[in-house]
Amino acid sequence: MKRILITGAAGFLGSHLCDRFIRDGYHVIGMDNLITGRLKNIEHLFSLKQFEFYNHDVSKFIHVSGKIDYILHFASPASPIDYLKIPIQTLKVGSLGIHNCLGLAKVKESKILVASTSEVYGDPTVHPQTEEYWGNVNPVGPRGVYDEAKRFQEAITMAYHNFHGIETRIARIFNTYGPRMRLNDGRVLPAFIGQALRGENLTVFGDGSQTRSFCYVDDLVEGIVRLLHSDYAQPVNIGNPCEITISQFAEEIIKLTGANPKIIYKELPEDDPKQRQPDISRAKSLLGWEPQIDRAEGLKRTYLYFQTLTKKELEEIDHINFEKFIIK
Ligand code: UDP
Repeated sequence: MKRILITGAAGFLGSHLCDRFIRDGYHVIGMDNLITGRLKNIEHLFSLKQFEFYNHDVSKFIHVSGKIDYILHFASPASPIDYLKIPIQTLKVGSLGIHNCLGLAKVKESKILVASTSEVYGDPTVHPQTEEYWGNVNPVGPRGVYDEAKRFQEAITMAYHNFHGIETRIARIFNTYGPRMRLNDGRVLPAFIGQALRGENLTVFGDGSQTRSFCYVDDLVEGIVRLLHSDYAQPVNIGNPCEITISQFAEEIIKLTGANPKIIYKELPEDDPKQRQPDISRAKSLLGWEPQIDRAEGLKRTYLYFQTLTKKELEEIDHINFEKFIIK
């Protein structure tokens, strides 16, 4: 039985990856320090003998006994609000954390895939973003802690590949959504759905003309699996190229939820990228991969999940004071 270590296992993407690799017949070792992840996302796996879980911070030395065939490094705060709240941990997991994972991959002779991000492109001046584009990142801005950690992560991963001959893969993940996103993680989809379900107004930042391109989580997972099994060490964009403005997205959420909120406009956070759309030509030609689930279907599935939350869970969330996160 192949053994795979998944860091960030209790997070949104990590937990879906655990499900997928369990389904594919792997022994899955999940690791998470639960700083942004939640046990609830993986508790359905606890009774399985092919699943183990370690509550561990991967920024500290990682010990796992036995062989490890594959490592997926998905541990990191990943939403702007999270990495503004915990900037040092964000920097550590993207630097010390990946260093530990690569060290482990070296001794265990594992193949490792690291979760990078469209944030390596910053506020891009090239549109859509191809992997050749080097990005436009402000290292000392509010997003710098995440963006630069992920850029460092790519650099050290390539160094281990070139210097130690480790089999490495780099996925540049664009905005992804689906069940198990945290209602209060501050990202636009859970923010809007949560607001609609609580009967609040929807908060659009800026004039809402900024764009994003949203990928449904099952498509993303399929892209990660294919990239892991490929023999390509350069970065690969994984995302859905279907681009939409945030205002249009707010309208779609209003229609989906049948709620009747107003849209209220708030100040745009500093360094908020104006546009984002992946060029996925590389993934298409290398992996034969492209998203299969359109936004209408993906949003329907995601909304079903959020509807299963109890009234208590909906109301227990901190009401996020977004103004606090606008750094002038
Ligand atoms: N956004 C918004 N209202 C919210 C939360 C986010 O208008 O309540 C905007 C945010 O300013 C950004 C976009 O939605 O332009 C996507 O934000 P998110 O935090 O989901 O991720 P990002 O792609 O910026 O990392």
